[in-house]
Amino acid sequence: MLQINYSKKFDRNKYYEKISKKRFHVNIKDDNGTKIIREEFKNIDYFLDKKTVTLQEIYDKFKELKKDNFHTLFKDISFKCLVIGNFRTLQKIKERVDTSEKIKENKSIKFIFHYTDLRETYISRFFEENLDISVCYYCNIDYINSYNVEKKKKNKFTLDHYYDKSTYPYLALSLYNFVPSCYACNSKLKGTKEFKNLSPSSVKFDFDQKVKFKLFLTDSCKDLNIKEKENIDIKLKEQYSNEYKKYIEVFQLNSRYKAHKDIVFEMIEKAELYPESRLKELQDLTGIPYQEIKKDIFKLIDDNVDLSKEPFSKLKKDISKELGII
Ligand SMILES: [Zn+2]
Repeated sequence: MLQINYSKKFDRNKYYEKISKKRFHVNIKDDNGTKIIREEFKNIDYFLDKKTVTLQEIYDKFKELKKDNFHTLFKDISFKCLVIGNFRTLQKIKERVDTSEKIKENKSIKFIFHYTDLRETYISRFFEENLDISVCYYCNIDYINSYNVEKKKKNKFTLDHYYDKSTYPYLALSLYNFVPSCYACNSKLKGTKEFKNLSPSSVKFDFDQKVKFKLFLTDSCKDLNIKEKENIDIKLKEQYSNEYKKYIEVFQLNSRYKAHKDIVFEMIEKAELYPESRLKELQDLTGIPYQEIKKDIFKLIDDNVDLSKEPFSKLKKDISKELGII
C-alpha cells in the first residue's frame, strides 16, 4: 500500500549491466559427461564457435534470426527496455505483447527470462544492496528487512512479480515488476492474481492518498466513551473512486488490521488522557512547547516521513488525523 521510494543508490543501469552480462556456456555436459551444444543454441552458427554468450547477445540473436517468433513478439522492444523500463513502460509492453498460451510455452522466452537462475545472486542481492527495505510494501504490517549472519547478508523479503511471471514470462526479470513483500502477501494471498491499478513500484501509485483508515464506533459507545477495543472498528475507505477495492480484498487488509485494533485503542486512550488543556499544562510546567510534548506522547509521524520504514505507520498516521491529534 506504500509507494517504493527508490533512492539515488538504486541505479537501474547497474542492474541492467548485471543482467545483460550474465553469461551462459554454449556447451553443456550430457548425462554421460559428453560435451554437447545447449538445446537452445542448436542449428545456430553464431553460437557454435563461442564458449560463452551473454543474455543480451542471446536476446538480440534470437530476434535477428526470428527464433520462436521473437522478431514479431518483441519488435521494437529492446532487452534494456524489458529489464529496466519503468512501470509505465512495462504496462505498455504487456499490452503489446501477446499473452496467449503460446507465450507460456515459448521455450526461448523461458530460457532467457529464467527467474530462478538469477533470483539469489543477481536480483535479491541487487535489492538488498541498493534499496533500504524495512516493511512490506503491500501491507505495511511485517518487517522484511535484511540482517547479517557472520558477515553474510540474509533477508526476510520475498520479491513479488507484480505481473505474474507465468502469465507474462518476459517480465520475469523486469526491475520495476518486483515488489519486495512479506511471505503472507506474496505467496499466501496474492499468488498469480492481477490488479488493474498501479504497482507500488510506479511513480503514480497513490494508495496512501486515495485510501484512508477510518475509525468506526459501535452503537454502545456513541458518546465517545470508549471502554474497550471491542467497541471500535477500523476499515480502509477509498475516497471518490474504487480503484483499490480488489487490492484491499486480495491482501485481506481490513481483516488483518482488525487483529491489531489495540494500536488504535491505545491511541484513543492517550487522546482522552491528554487533551489539549492537559498538554498546555505540561508546557507551562516543563517549558517544552506543547506540540513537541504531543509528538512525544503520541509518537506522531511527520508528513514528510517515508512511511514504508515502520510497520503500521499508515494506520497510525491516518487514525491520528481521524482523532484530530494532527
Ligand atoms: Zn505484506
